[in-house]
Amino acid sequence: MKVYGVTGWKNAGKTGLMERLVAEITARGFSVSTVKHAHHTTDVDQPGTDSFRHRQAGAGEVLLASPHRWALMAELRDAPEPPLEALLARLSPADLVLVEGYKSAPHPKIEAHRAETGKPLLSAENNSVRAIASDAPVESPLPRFDLDDTGAIADFILADLRLVVADAPGAEPEDLTPPRLRDDCFAMPQGVAWVPVDEALSRLRSVLRPVTGTESCATHAARGRVLAETAVARRSNPPRPNSAVDGYGFAHERTGEGVQRLPLVAGRAAAGQPFEGAVPAGRAVRILTGAILPEGVDTVVLEEDCAVNATHVAFDGPVKPRANTRKAGEDVTEGSPALPAGHRLRAPDLALLSALGLGEVMVQRKLRVGVLSTGDEIVPSPAEPALPHQIWDANRPMLLSLAEGWDHAPVDLGHVRDDQALIAARLDAAAKDCDVILTSGGASAGDEDHVSALLRARGTLSSWRIALKPGRPLALAMWNGTPVFGLPGNPVAALVCALIFARPAMSLLAGAGWTEAQGFTVPAAFSKRKKPGRREFLRARLDAEGRAEVFASEGSGRISGLSWATGLVELPDEAVEIAPGNPVRFLPYEGFGLR
Ligand code: AMP
Ligand code: MG
Repeated sequence: MKVYGVTGWKNAGKTGLMERLVAEITARGFSVSTVKHAHHTTDVDQPGTDSFRHRQAGAGEVLLASPHRWALMAELRDAPEPPLEALLARLSPADLVLVEGYKSAPHPKIEAHRAETGKPLLSAENNSVRAIASDAPVESPLPRFDLDDTGAIADFILADLRLVVADAPGAEPEDLTPPRLRDDCFAMPQGVAWVPVDEALSRLRSVLRPVTGTESCATHAARGRVLAETAVARRSNPPRPNSAVDGYGFAHERTGEGVQRLPLVAGRAAAGQPFEGAVPAGRAVRILTGAILPEGVDTVVLEEDCAVNATHVAFDGPVKPRANTRKAGEDVTEGSPALPAGHRLRAPDLALLSALGLGEVMVQRKLRVGVLSTGDEIVPSPAEPALPHQIWDANRPMLLSLAEGWDHAPVDLGHVRDDQALIAARLDAAAKDCDVILTSGGASAGDEDHVSALLRARGTLSSWRIALKPGRPLALAMWNGTPVFGLPGNPVAALVCALIFARPAMSLLAGAGWTEAQGFTVPAAFSKRKKPGRREFLRARLDAEGRAEVFASEGSGRISGLSWATGLVELPDEAVEIAPGNPVRFLPYEGFGLR
């Protein structure tokens, strides 16, 4: 059944909103049921009534019926209160169940808010809130409705639950490939405010495209570069048939079973020193590894299998035809594709390209990745003194080094205070020089979150509330045509968001295609119970038995855990209960290209 909640502090207008929504949505032809979570002081049954007496006497369930309604009461006595799902299971089918209360259950919710309560928004800490219904403007990246605009709130809920088809203004036609990223490329379809990791990744993947131009690069200097076109073999490898060993070469057709004694011709064939002339059938020639097979030679015996004197070579037959030789082009033939466009070159690829005669290759220009730190508390360098209320910038060196390790061109944009004019000026300059900008800090929706406020003011912010721990909203925006990833300030969350989102996205922008982190399944060395509704990444490393142990604290301020770890354990979106020995997915840092 489709479930939607109304949550909020006391006196925020929850019940009024519930009442109006039930009326509005049933009037639109949907069947609606409700669940209300009440205080322990609330009771439907009153002392003195017959049903009360049944209950008192020990009945498990009491069903009270009249011509107007019936109610089923179950007596919990000392049993724990059942979770919402168990209660929902008892309801008859309906199009929609609206739930008042149960603020920590994972179902999506509207937060009712009244300014006069003076309370902060629950949604700042609660991932399951999708929108706010308030009587005054609020500071939040979520969609906001007027508390009394019941029609718009009902539209939003029905679209979010896909009970009606919502417009998707951010969706692009799939067959259209504009040359530049669109200003609204990060827009999320209306009504989706809380995004599972996989959905966020597939949206990024579908809106981004390579943004770098191409240039030519000498093969010897091309490690880490991305091929802009297919590398085609200029010549076959090997170019001519040659010997795979040091030994003696001859024509196979003149050999047979038993001991073979062949007279030797004068001279020899060596790599780089081809034998001049032909070897007559029935005779043998001294030949070394890599030497072109002389005319008349198609088979070689290993020198260790031969007896030789000044004039003859002897070995045991039979010998396989073409033994110990390599055919021309057996590795790669001239004109054939050797490496595809989009391939990021590694050391072995430089060997291949060189072997095929390619001294230069067309590659993508390196993606220029600007890295900017924000925050009044940040001191740009540990070489400078920091007062007790200040902290040294940990994110910038980390993100610059990640960019470099991923073979992009890192651009240090320094640090700016939490001042929108300064941040804007720095972004203006950076957008001219960089292909993508990573900022850290100030990316959520609080008073001091100046990056997201600025990006919102310029009208291009799309704040993705990703169901991810550790991580806060990922602020995505276009700034003068340059994509900006607003990463969380917290170094643990900044690293996880960089590895999970920025890495594959930047790989795509750089022309190297989307990348998946490589991981494998190992037994857990820990216990953990996880609620459904978001993906979690734990700092982890493998112990001596190859089991994943996790860092003692999940506190996202614990930077030391990032260094303690050698990778991350990925826990799925669903609820899991992990006991030692259970399989978990371990993603080594190396699988993220982190070095
Ligand atoms: P913010 O996202 O700005 O709310 O920051 C979240 C937390 O991360 C705060 O404790 C910040 O002090 C901290 N933080 C922000 N930027 C950095 C940085 N560059 N290096 C280390 N910590 C940071
Ligand atoms: Mg801050």
